[in-house]
Amino acid sequence: MKIIMLGAPGAGKGTQAKKIAGKYGIPHISTGDIFRANIKNGTELGKKAKTYMDQGLLVPDELVVDLVVDRVNQEDCTKGYVLDGFPRTIPQAEALDKALADVDQKIDYAINVEVPDENIVNRMSGRRACVSCGATYHLVYAPTKEEGICDNCQGSLILRDDDKPETVKKRLNVYHEQTQPLIDYYTKAGVLVEVDGTIDIDDVFAAIVKVLEEA
Ligand code: ADP
Ligand code: AMP
Repeated sequence: MKIIMLGAPGAGKGTQAKKIAGKYGIPHISTGDIFRANIKNGTELGKKAKTYMDQGLLVPDELVVDLVVDRVNQEDCTKGYVLDGFPRTIPQAEALDKALADVDQKIDYAINVEVPDENIVNRMSGRRACVSCGATYHLVYAPTKEEGICDNCQGSLILRDDDKPETVKKRLNVYHEQTQPLIDYYTKAGVLVEVDGTIDIDDVFAAIVKVLEEA
C-alpha cells in the first residue's frame, strides 16, 4: 500500500501518517523529519535545507527528489509506505511517478486532509515537537501526560521556529501556490481521497481506515 498524505501545513498529515504506518506495519517517511534530523546532525544537506525552512519556503526539488526515491527503494518499503510532506510540487510528483513507473509501480492513494486556513495558525501555535524523538503533540488537542515532557522518551518539547504565526502565514501561501495543484494531479490519476481534517484525530483516522479497507 503506497500512500501520499496531502494537506496544508498543520492539517494533521504527520499525525495520521504515524497512525496509518502503525496499523499497517509500513514505514512513515516524512521529508520534514529527514531535513530536521539533518539540521540536528549538522550535515551539508541540513545546512542548505535550513536556509529555506527558516523562511517558510520549500527546499528546492533537486535536494528532495533523489533522497525520497532512494528511500522508497529500500528493503523495508517493499510492502508500501506513507509519504508525509512529499511530493509538495508538481515536478516532485512527476519525478516520483516516473521512478515508480520504472519499476512497474504506482501510488495507490493520495489522502487529502482538508482543514481551512482559519484553523491552521491555531493548530500550529499549539503544536509541540520533542527535541529528541520528533514526536508531535498539541497543547489542547493532543496533550502530553506531563506538561512539556515527551510521552515516548521523556525529551523536552519545543515550538518549531517555522510554526510561529508569521512563518505559518508564509507557508500557507507557499502551500496554495505550489502544493495545492497536486489535488488536481492526483484526482486526474484517480487516486485522490478527501477526508475532513477538522474533526477529532481518532475520527479522521477512522475515516481514512474506512476508505483503505473498502478498496
Ligand atoms: P502536519 O504534519 O500536516 O504539518 P501535524 O500532524 O503535525 O500536521 O498536526 C499539526 C498539529 O495539529 C499538531 O499539534 C497535532 O497534534 C494537531 N492535530 C492534528 N490533527 C488534529 C485534529 N484532527 N484535531 C485537532 N488537532 C489536530
Ligand atoms: P513539514 O515537517 O512537512 O511541515 O516540513 C517542514 C519544512 O521542510 C517545509 O516548510 C519545507 O521547507 C521543507 N520540506 C519538507 N518536505 C519538503 C518537500 N517535499 N519539498 C520541499 N521542501 C520540503
